Amino acid sequence: MQVNEILPRKKRPSDDCLWCGAAFEARNGGKRQRFCRPLCRTAFHSASRRWAERAIASGALSIADLRSESHSRAGI
Ligand SMILES: [Zn+2]
Repeated sequence: MQVNEILPRKKRPSDDCLWCGAAFEARNGGKRQRFCRPLCRTAFHSASRRWAERAIASGALSIADLRSESHSRAGI
C-alpha cells in the first residue's frame, strides 16, 4: 500500500483564505495568517458566534462543551 497516494499533500501550506477561499500571500513570521483580509476574519468570527448561539439554543451544543473547549486551549 502506498501512503503517498492515499494522502496527497501540497508542497507548501495552503494560503487560501479560510473564509472566502481566495488565495493570498501570507506575511512571514508571527502567527500564521488564515484570512486574506480583516473583513474575512471578522465575518468568520461573527458567523461562528451566531452558529454557536443557534447550536446552543437548539440544544445541539451545551455551554459545558464550550467551556471545556476553551479550557483545553488555555494552556496552548
Ligand atoms: Zn478572504
